[in-house]
Amino acid sequence: MTKNEIVNYLNAGQDEELFDRAAKVKTQTVGAKVYLRALIELSNVCACDCLYCGLRKSNDKVVRYTLDNQQIEESIKYAIENKYGSVVIQSGEVISQKFTEQIEKIVTQTQNLSNGKLAVTLSCGQQSEQTYRRWFDKGASRYLLRIETSSRELFKKIHPPNIKFDNRIEALQTLQKIGFQTGSGVMIGLPNQTIENLADDLLWLRKIDVDMCGMGPYIPHQQTPLYGKQRAFDQNQTVVLTLRMIALLRILMPDINIAATTALATLDPIARAKAIQVGANVIMPNVTPPNQRSYYNLYDNKATDLDVSQFEIAYNEQGTSQRYQAKCELNHPQK
Ligand code: SAH
Ligand code: SF4
Repeated sequence: MTKNEIVNYLNAGQDEELFDRAAKVKTQTVGAKVYLRALIELSNVCACDCLYCGLRKSNDKVVRYTLDNQQIEESIKYAIENKYGSVVIQSGEVISQKFTEQIEKIVTQTQNLSNGKLAVTLSCGQQSEQTYRRWFDKGASRYLLRIETSSRELFKKIHPPNIKFDNRIEALQTLQKIGFQTGSGVMIGLPNQTIENLADDLLWLRKIDVDMCGMGPYIPHQQTPLYGKQRAFDQNQTVVLTLRMIALLRILMPDINIAATTALATLDPIARAKAIQVGANVIMPNVTPPNQRSYYNLYDNKATDLDVSQFEIAYNEQGTSQRYQAKCELNHPQK
């Protein structure tokens, strides 16, 4: 698909054709299964100051928490008992020896509690190669790090000067080099974002060759500098654009894992189901202990639950990205 075609699909009302096409591709590749990732929001302590995020360090209205050992164990056990195939440990970005060790321990703890059955995904921001390696060596196999936008100019507008676009890309390439199943993604509807930017985002995801992707609407948070800046699209448009982005990505990258995100469900609960119909094959229900959950507010009115009764859920399956599997087989052909 050319950039022009992508822009046309994003712009015009060709949804029926697009969604049908994407649904067919999905059936032929990843199939009808929906994989579960148990999302554990480990901590909302963050040393970064991203202009869009409610957890940014300058937001002094946040009650900061970090789950204790028992709460982490509870969350992992909940995931096991409810037949999840994988957990995602997400947190603010902290760069310290203590944090690195804490994550190492959680990775080990997850493996011990689940007899190695639960795949561990980390989403703890930009870290050094050495830190990523330490986590990988303990058994974390997947990492999520969004580029947020593939436009260098827009990236600059939504981040403080110390967060650099090139470093983010380098971090993603480091993750791939180490051997992580690597996920990235973007926010949709950022102030000053254009349809062209979104088309470029899709081509960028293909170029960098992600194994997994999470894309969701940007949702303003009151205590952030970006709040009040006009969003690129209104709320309904943003929801539809997110669905189009997911459908297009499924066509562009048939064998990757694509998440139907919480942010999408926050704007429109039905849209998450629609996202699955048109290309997504992963959902990430939140299993953070309920008392802590309300403090992990990346954006306002964050949705916290989902009725999964309507999908074919892949219980007890890790749901490795087919694309990643194919890459591994290329590198180490089975005899
Ligand atoms: N600190 C880690 C992980 C937590 S943030 C990191 O930054 O990678 C996880 C994701 O939440 C970010 O990548 C961003 O895309 C999303 N997010 C943050 N603020 C948001 C907002 N206002 N609207 C929508 N998504 C947001
Ligand atoms: Fe911190 Fe991640 Fe929010 Fe940026 S997006 S402020 S790194 S939690």
